[in-house]
Amino acid sequence: MPLVSMRQLLDEAARGGYGVGAFNVNNMEQIQAIMEAARETKSPVIVQASRGARSYCQDRFLYHLMLAATELYPEIPTVLHLDHGNSVETCKSAIAMGFTSVMMDGSLMPDGKTPSTFEYNVKATREVVETAHAKGITVEGEIGCLGGIEDGHGAGLDGLSHLTDPEQAVEFVRQTQVDALAIAIGTSHGAYKFTQKPTGETLKMDRLIEIHKRLPNTHLVMHGSSSVPKELQDIINQYGGKLRPTWGVPVEEIQLGIKNGVRKVNVDTDNRLAMTGAIRKVFAEKPEEFDPRSYLKPARDAMKKVVAQRMTQFGQAGHAGDYAPLSLEEMAKRYQGNGKPLAA
Ligand SMILES: [Zn+2]
Repeated sequence: MPLVSMRQLLDEAARGGYGVGAFNVNNMEQIQAIMEAARETKSPVIVQASRGARSYCQDRFLYHLMLAATELYPEIPTVLHLDHGNSVETCKSAIAMGFTSVMMDGSLMPDGKTPSTFEYNVKATREVVETAHAKGITVEGEIGCLGGIEDGHGAGLDGLSHLTDPEQAVEFVRQTQVDALAIAIGTSHGAYKFTQKPTGETLKMDRLIEIHKRLPNTHLVMHGSSSVPKELQDIINQYGGKLRPTWGVPVEEIQLGIKNGVRKVNVDTDNRLAMTGAIRKVFAEKPEEFDPRSYLKPARDAMKKVVAQRMTQFGQAGHAGDYAPLSLEEMAKRYQGNGKPLAA
């Protein structure tokens, strides 16, 4: 099957009461790891690429690898999503290339660093929604600013300085008609999210629950939601790495989010840690090896294991065959009809 709309995946997830992991990719091995994990667990898939990933892969390599994924895994509904589009132009270029979902992150200015105004955010996001929905493409917006910096994107804030205001979130969704909404509840991008296991003071799940109460029909997105497990940190440090002690978002908090409207969960760091740990282990234990496959294969296997675990924990496992994916043309028609393309 061709790449599918993210809106339909998330509508189905809402109907089934589960979340869907969105995993970042930069290369073939990462795409293979995700698709293999999806086949093993029978999960629908969201693969996402940041601007940094698009430039690393020169875009076309990425797109054709994703076409290969749809050919080789025809039973898996697969979305290709743009992570943190910094401008209307970036989103339009992703749509032109064949992405089936885009994030317009208007919470920051196009420099990807400076927090923007609400008015700017609404205007830019609304413009992307108009272009995207006409083609049946899904749009994720963001209100409030996340902490940290990833791939050069982010204001470098701590996670708590620009939390999402629930009232503003309602107004933002009303004015933009986004399909999914990323909210800031204390999480940050990258490995260094929390300096100790997060509490209600640092990870504001109460805020998330309040937003969901006010926007029960909007799919919420948790960014920066790697769990940064100690086992993965330990493997890296055991084989010569130098990670400082750090904590991520515990899986049970993500599961609480999923009970309260979270349908997309962004995970990148955990996969990076798994791959790097596996590569370091081969380098340390078999210094005579020089065939890249000798370390890329274990790296791919390590990422597959983490992805399969998350797919199970988020509840998407077993749901790949629940529904017939709609074409983008059909999605475009539904957006035109009444603005409610709910598959349900
Ligand atoms: Zn993010």
